[in-house]
Amino acid sequence: MSLIILGSVAFDALETPFGKTDKIVGGAASYAAIAASYVYDAVKIVGVVGEDFGEDNLSKFTRKNIDISGIQVKAGEKSFFWSGKYHNDMNTRDTLVTELNVLGDFDPVIPESYQDATYILLGNLSPQVQLTALQRLKQRPKLVVMDTMNFWMDVALDRLKEVLKQVDVLTINDEEARQLSGEYSLVKAAEAILNMGPKYLIIKKGEHGALLFGEGKIFVAPALPLAEVFDPTGAGDTFAGGFIGYLANKGTVNFENMKSAVIYGSALASFCVEKFGTERIEELTVQQIKERTEIFSTLTSFVI
Ligand code: AMP
Repeated sequence: MSLIILGSVAFDALETPFGKTDKIVGGAASYAAIAASYVYDAVKIVGVVGEDFGEDNLSKFTRKNIDISGIQVKAGEKSFFWSGKYHNDMNTRDTLVTELNVLGDFDPVIPESYQDATYILLGNLSPQVQLTALQRLKQRPKLVVMDTMNFWMDVALDRLKEVLKQVDVLTINDEEARQLSGEYSLVKAAEAILNMGPKYLIIKKGEHGALLFGEGKIFVAPALPLAEVFDPTGAGDTFAGGFIGYLANKGTVNFENMKSAVIYGSALASFCVEKFGTERIEELTVQQIKERTEIFSTLTSFVI
């Protein structure tokens, strides 16, 4: 039994109103795997890096007991590089550079030792790569969670819809849900998207929390009101990693466990934005996460 996290493992260069970084470790799979490792002990990454990534950076994963035998290291090639600059509101950003490098022809390899996977997160990558990874598993995992973004809706909508038919949970943000469904109301958007295949849908609303739809029910999760957001990069990936890690730990997939998983993911995401890159989520303790999930529960508890 294990949890596979498929996604980019990258170098990022970030600029926010609070400062700037040189190349630091980023990528959807990096955030998600580190997040999941706090709650589940058999996390395995599928990804690709170039020779420039180095042992030292890979040790960020192995230090957390994350299996990296599914990360291909391409000799003589460069890792995926992304650079972004946030506006003053911290909700919007401009992509300054995207160098696909090794991600350009990424052909995901699933090691034999990963074939016991019961959970998989198809992190934000081309729908074709997501589909290939899923097809290379001899047994369909018990839970397939997919993350995607508007870019893939623009350039590969048909393939994206093909993947959607095979997933249990889709996580996207509010604007993406509107684009995918053609509906402005998020309730109508959810209904339309659930008709495309997934049994559950999570709509992320950034600083306004997240909505979970499924089994004819809706759950509303808050976001922690933070005095300062330092760097929002990877918050969505951290959320997804925490969410699926929590469910893998529980072992039972139902709406009640999903509600708790949404809160667990939201708590981890609230740490992620406190420092640049993966820095904050690398240094957490289980106790700190527990305390933060308790804050979430007091935030929304009331009596009428
Ligand atoms: P988020 O802030 O959740 O959108 O995730 C940001 C992370 O996604 C960064 O660490 C980037 O390295 C990674 N990323 C950006 N663009 C892409 C892309 N086209 N494909 C895969 N990963 C990407």
